[in-house]
Amino acid sequence: MRNPRSIDSICAAAGSDMPSVTRPLTAPIYQNSVFEIESLEQVDDIYEGRQDGFIYSRDANPNVSILERVVADLEDAGDAVAFASGMGAVGVTLLALVESGDTVLAADALYGGTNLLLRQHLTKLGVKVEFVDATDLNAIEDALQGQPKVMLIESITNPLLSLPDVKATAELAHKRGTALVVDNTLATPVLLRPLELGADIVIHSATKSLGGHSDVTGGVIAARADITMQIRQSNRVWGSTPDPFAAWLIARGIRTLSLRVERACDNAIRAAAFLSDHPKVSAVHYPGLPGHPQHELAKSTMPGGFGGMVSYDLQGGGDAASEFVRALDMIKFAPSLGEARTTMSHPAKTSHRSLSEDERAKSGITDGLIRMSCGLESAEDITADLEQALERV
Ligand code: PLP
Repeated sequence: MRNPRSIDSICAAAGSDMPSVTRPLTAPIYQNSVFEIESLEQVDDIYEGRQDGFIYSRDANPNVSILERVVADLEDAGDAVAFASGMGAVGVTLLALVESGDTVLAADALYGGTNLLLRQHLTKLGVKVEFVDATDLNAIEDALQGQPKVMLIESITNPLLSLPDVKATAELAHKRGTALVVDNTLATPVLLRPLELGADIVIHSATKSLGGHSDVTGGVIAARADITMQIRQSNRVWGSTPDPFAAWLIARGIRTLSLRVERACDNAIRAAAFLSDHPKVSAVHYPGLPGHPQHELAKSTMPGGFGGMVSYDLQGGGDAASEFVRALDMIKFAPSLGEARTTMSHPAKTSHRSLSEDERAKSGITDGLIRMSCGLESAEDITADLEQALERV
């Protein structure tokens, strides 16, 4: 029988009819911007939360919800909200929490993009931003006297890998009614769960270890459900929700997160030991080394490992760093972290280039500083590549 619909109508509906299938073992990708709704009653029921369902993907999408649930479980949080990038997560979270006249107290050691957002963009909205050494509890106590609305720290700082005491900081912040927000990107929930230590909100750049394969950009925050609700509402209007495929890729990456983190930690501690003994390396920053200023804190708060990142200073500064980058073979210069392969970055030229020379010098970010993210290769291959490259410097 002839199809009663016109060519135009067949074209317009192409690809929309769902065949009846058995349940897929992994979630399909709901690459939809909008969902078909049965009735006006149903739209009310979904908006009012009486029925589960999806209407418009900037508000909610199945793949995004799957990712949010898994991160909430990983961080032992009531709920989570996913974003199009880690910076989307940092920016929208702050926009949701503060208003003109409020103060944000931030660690003086933060990812360069976050630092830029605070100094140049949040201040434009009338928000006051103050910085403090987040490894110094006395300095934090003093700075909290101004009763900032929010305090923002990283659980392992980028790039020098120092560790604030999250538990003690949360106690001090709460005495002043300040919410503690912790960027847990470098530690991952496999090693550290800031909410268990008293933090109010945890943030991830999912571009890093959660995604784990350098093929997706994303961010996630996790917190109590009443807090995530406020941030979710903000995200819906600021529009930093992730694409469904991006959410799917991050959720897929998370399946191997604990195995990847375990291997990265093993490789990092061996690389750190090798670098510590090398005459062309003047300093190694790794929380697993006994000489690290917060080594005891790292042992007690991260019993599962000290992380996959190792930072080190080369004798010979910027010139040595430049030669080193060219001489590495297996280890690639790729300014990100937390992926399957070992990569290295040069913070002064990449993540922290927005800081002035003076600010970098004060933060200890020298021209010879290399930040290395250990991957899943064998430790022998990583140290062999470091050894041959250092020989040629
Ligand atoms: N937080 C930390 C600790 C980071 O290292 C980064 C990026 O390097 C971000 C946030 C920003 O994440 P994204 O690049 O996904 O926007």
